[in-house]
This record gives sequence, C-alpha cells and structure tokens, in this order.
Amino acid sequence: MFDGDGGASLCFDDGGGSGSGPVIRGVIYLIYGLIVMFLFRLVTRSIVRFFAAPADVQRRARRPGPRAAEDLVRDPICNTYVPRSRALAAFVQGHEEHFCSEACRDRARATATRAS
Ligand SMILES: [Zn+2]
Repeated sequence: MFDGDGGASLCFDDGGGSGSGPVIRGVIYLIYGLIVMFLFRLVTRSIVRFFAAPADVQRRARRPGPRAAEDLVRDPICNTYVPRSRALAAFVQGHEEHFCSEACRDRARATATRAS
C-alpha cells in the first residue's frame, strides 16, 4: 500500500505537523474558490435577469408599432391601407396619392377632372 504509488506525497512520517498544513490550506482555498464561484454565479444570474427582462418587454412593445405604421399609405378612394411598395402612386391635382388598384386610381383621376 505504501510502496511507491501515487500516495507518496501524503506520507505520514514526513515531519509531523508541517505535512498537514499545505493540505488544509489547499482545502480552504478550494472552499473559498467554490464560495466565490457560487457568489459570482448568483450575481451574474441576477444581473442577466435584471437586464433581460426589460429588453424583452421593449422588444414586445416595439414589435407592433413600426411594422404596422411604417410603410402603409392610405387609398383615398376606398380608404384601404396599402403597403407603400405595393401601392400605385399617381399625381392627382398636383399632389401624389397612393391607390390599392388601377380602378381606384382611375376613379380618383375621374373625380379630380370632374371637380375642376
Ligand atoms: Zn382602393
């Protein structure tokens, strides 16, 4: 059991008290390390929670706003909101209007020429 394998460093007949000192110190350092790691984890977890929650709320709050309002234009003939990329743009009585279809655009031009 004591003849020269891995246990040689913990030899008991090696100067009495001085042998157990470093081992206990190492154990204390290990425990300190574990406590510090535990506290560090606790702190980082609470920080992550603290910062993650408001960001999530902001993301949820922002989502419907710009997408719904950003690129929609109103067709003045049928009062439909059309995405700007799909809308038909035409100048009616000097200013640009957007329409959902050619029919609405033609009707707007017809009423404009009738009115003037
Ligand atoms: Zn329309």
